[in-house]
Amino acid sequence: MSTDNIRELIIIGSGPAGYTAAIYAARAGLAPLVLAGPQPGGQPTTTTVIENFPGFPEGVAGPQLMQNMQKQAERFGAEIKFAAADKVDFTEEPKKIFVGNEIYQARTVIVATGSRYRTLNLPKEKELLARGLHICATCDGFFYRGKTVAVIGGGDSAMEESNFLTKFADKVYLIHRRDEFRASEIMKQRTFANKKIELILNSEVTEYLGEARLTGVKIKNIVTNVISELPLDGLFFAIGHIPNTEIFKGQLTLNEKEGHIAVTENVYTNIEGVFAAGECADFIYRQTITSAGFGGMAAMAARKWLEK
Ligand code: NAP
Repeated sequence: MSTDNIRELIIIGSGPAGYTAAIYAARAGLAPLVLAGPQPGGQPTTTTVIENFPGFPEGVAGPQLMQNMQKQAERFGAEIKFAAADKVDFTEEPKKIFVGNEIYQARTVIVATGSRYRTLNLPKEKELLARGLHICATCDGFFYRGKTVAVIGGGDSAMEESNFLTKFADKVYLIHRRDEFRASEIMKQRTFANKKIELILNSEVTEYLGEARLTGVKIKNIVTNVISELPLDGLFFAIGHIPNTEIFKGQLTLNEKEGHIAVTENVYTNIEGVFAAGECADFIYRQTITSAGFGGMAAMAARKWLEK
């Protein structure tokens, strides 16, 4: 194990929260180190066009937005290491972050580890992942040109992915467990107007069909209890997210329900000098812009804490 110098600030994660924290902290002279994590750029890198990030009247591609944020952070002196934290020890000063054989040390830490896609956890799921089961339409939709696919979920992601998939697939079923949607009005209108999308409501997927690859699903109508089979080439999950907070268990207080980091005043964790920003803590707003906002707040809070 090799031990690095003690830094003023380490940011764990490189989504909108992590990179915005890095921009603010670097400009405040804290020379932050960003541990970019397993998915550099975070969730926006798996989306197509982001239409509601202010300043881009025509929308901006998610990966492009994140590259811009990275460059902006680097321009002000943030150091970015493309590695993932394995373990943390916040019980004594300086705080320690373990990455493979290296130990990074810092007086303050911003946790911005984001969240990941939820799946249904049905039998055969592991075997069928990337063989008909997918978590990212932007990444894998291309393989379904002329095919029949389905998306599960009733939020903005489900609508966005369904619409995106119609660029390739001939038919897209949107399977939702209720008959009301969480999605925003504009996304609903776009989806309902798309002739390639067919809604299957009040319905849950209960079984994946196929062995070497997915050939369809069993669906249960939860009003009538009727179970039917739907032949499919591909199935995409858009049923929300799970916070990436496992390595902080026993170190930071996590909310009981889903494991988000418990914060007060938006970004303060239970440990002095450790802050949380973005979807690892936020289960309410979950937008690129709000995560970026929390990142900025966390950097300001870290700076204040260091000054004290
Ligand atoms: P979400 O809003 O939490 O929606 C998740 C959906 O999955 C809900 O409809 C939920 O059903 C369903 N669901 C959850 N667990 C399920 C299960 N076990 N089985 C079946 N269905 C299940 O998540 P999201 O769509 O990923 O959106 C997250 C946030 O990102 C939101 O704030 C959203 O506005 C934002 N977002 C915005 C855009 C955009 O503006 N372009 C695009 C994508 C995401 P119920 O409704 O019945 O609970």
